[in-house]
Amino acid sequence: MKVKEIDLGNFEAFPAENGQVYYHDVKNYDYLDNAQDYVSNELSDDSNELVSHHNRSWLVIVSYPDQEWVATGRMIPRESGIISDPERVLELGKECRLEIPLMLQICERCKGKGTMGNPAFNGTSIEWWQEHGGPDWKEDLEEYAHGDMYDVECEYNCDNGKAFGIDWTWLVTRVKYAFKMHNENHPIHSSEYVESLNEWTVKIRQHIEDYNEYQAERRSEERWGY
Ligand SMILES: [Zn+2]
Repeated sequence: MKVKEIDLGNFEAFPAENGQVYYHDVKNYDYLDNAQDYVSNELSDDSNELVSHHNRSWLVIVSYPDQEWVATGRMIPRESGIISDPERVLELGKECRLEIPLMLQICERCKGKGTMGNPAFNGTSIEWWQEHGGPDWKEDLEEYAHGDMYDVECEYNCDNGKAFGIDWTWLVTRVKYAFKMHNENHPIHSSEYVESLNEWTVKIRQHIEDYNEYQAERRSEERWGY
């Protein structure tokens, strides 16, 4: 689904758990997602980059939207000696870089623990534990629910409970500052600048939306056993 255009100037900060800040659009009841899941997934992709400038970390999504296969005209010799196909190479074209401001947050998946309950036991019934657990099944179930013996590494690959999320504060603050300067007739802070920040935000949100849609599709396929 295509995300809506937004005006960051309408977003108000609300303090949330773990010292995080959430932004809600006071007009449209929209909100900005810190998207730790998305960020951790993109950071695990080798073609993307994690860079540091302006005193913060940035996730750089590197893509090649205009890449295409181009025939070189050279023929590839085949072992059979009879047929050869013209060689084709992938031309990447111009590199596109989308930078996303990050901040370290308490990991939402493991709640700062660094490890999490083994998802293999998700949805198991009391009867299942009774059947598979042996005489101490009650203690095993208690341990699974409240202890960490069955824990596995956190799904977000967080650093001991700290994970990167999107720092919307950086973008929202810039927009509000630019508005203020614009209203006070500082010529550098034009409405085009505000527009470009809004467009930047829409691009980031579209990436998150596409990722969430893909994940939802994958989960439903798993459920139906495709
Ligand atoms: Zn975690």
